Amino acid sequence: MNRIWNSLRWRIVAYYTSLLALAIGIVLALGHRNETRYLSQLHAARMQATGLEILPSFFSPPAGPRRFQRLPRQESPELFRQLDEIHTAGVFLLAINSGGDRIFASRDLPDHFAPPAEISTAEYAGFLLTELRTPPGDRLVLGMPMQMLREEARESLSVSLAVGAGVFLVLAALGALLVFGGLRPIARMGADARKIADGDLSKRLDPALQCEELRSLSGVLNQTFDRLQGALRRQIRFTADASHELRTPLAAILADCEFSLHKPRSTERYLETIEVCQESARHMGKLVERLGLLARLDSDETTLEVESLDLEDAARRALSWVEPLAREHGIALHAELHELHAAADPLRIGQVLLNLLRNAIVYNKSGGSVTIRNGTTEGQAWFEVEDTGHGIAEEKINRVFERFFRVDESRNAHTGGAGLGLAICKSIMECHGGDIHVCSELGTGTTFRIEWPADFHLS
Ligand code: ADP
Repeated sequence: MNRIWNSLRWRIVAYYTSLLALAIGIVLALGHRNETRYLSQLHAARMQATGLEILPSFFSPPAGPRRFQRLPRQESPELFRQLDEIHTAGVFLLAINSGGDRIFASRDLPDHFAPPAEISTAEYAGFLLTELRTPPGDRLVLGMPMQMLREEARESLSVSLAVGAGVFLVLAALGALLVFGGLRPIARMGADARKIADGDLSKRLDPALQCEELRSLSGVLNQTFDRLQGALRRQIRFTADASHELRTPLAAILADCEFSLHKPRSTERYLETIEVCQESARHMGKLVERLGLLARLDSDETTLEVESLDLEDAARRALSWVEPLAREHGIALHAELHELHAAADPLRIGQVLLNLLRNAIVYNKSGGSVTIRNGTTEGQAWFEVEDTGHGIAEEKINRVFERFFRVDESRNAHTGGAGLGLAICKSIMECHGGDIHVCSELGTGTTFRIEWPADFHLS
């Protein structure tokens, strides 16, 4: 029962049939009331017509009152035929002369029946009465028990009830068919969505099969599935890339250890092996640390320590850290900075600037330059790091923020980068409610721009 009630289809059918039953019930009740009214009007009219026909037999001069009482059946067969007809129809008759004497009463006149002084056409004491009056004041009262009329109405009510029940059954069945048919696209959509949820992430809801109302819903669901599939794919690629990155230094450690252990070696050789192991372990340590940071940024576990950041100071500090590296690569550093403040986590923004400056130096040409700028525009705080380096090819530019993506593997071999720096920068900026953009021209240089709301989380 509970299962049926939980089904939308059955619930709609239940509401619909209840309303249908109520509507048919109301129609039948109103119909029954009108039928009773109609029957009483019909019978009253018939009694009037009959009364008009027989009135002269009672009150015209040749058929005076006393004479009538003694009138033998053979002398007036037509009148007696009419009286028999009236009797068969259940109608009783009472003729009262202008003096108030009852000159005739049909044999089925109810005992102690006394008509009211004035009768239009009305229900009176359980009888439907009508009367005809002559100008001198004679009265011909005709009546019938209301009970008879009600029985007649009840008979037609039972016919109406049977018809109503038939109509109800047909309409209920049609309604159920419509509901079940109308909700079939939802059921089909649910079945398709279940298949996708069960693991077939390549499947999509077919918008062509859905009706207008469901099309936008299936569009939203398909977009959600696209995002889920994309996230899952990225997750799988990320795990594969991470294990690939760790495999290289691990292989180096293993190969060197095996070589050293194969047979006794000189002390210098052992020292060399230990140095290789140390270098590889350092590299793995850095990688694991970066992967950990990315995972924390992804899972919203990192809480930013937001404060009012001096943008100029943050940039100058980052420049001072990369100065030795710039000197080593023969790169000139320039600063176009203004004294500005914005809400941000100084540690994380410092990390981003350091990464951008480091990239601008190591992917630069010898004798090139790097310029850092800051500003606030329309409530957004921003930094730009521009270099005069090799630039990034157009087809690869959109991928530089992907994890483990490196534009040029051979050039990266010297820098030792794992392709995680820009991915971390992007995550950090997204945590600040901002973003990172890049524009580049091959052979001319690259500009990275980070921006975020200057009043981010600062109440
Ligand atoms: P990595 O640690 O390898 O430097 P990043 O995520 O910081 O990783 O950068 C991803 C790739 O984008 C780099 O491998 C490099 O090829 C390219 N790249 C980043 N910054 C620049 C730049 N300023 N000029 C040219 N190429 C760049």
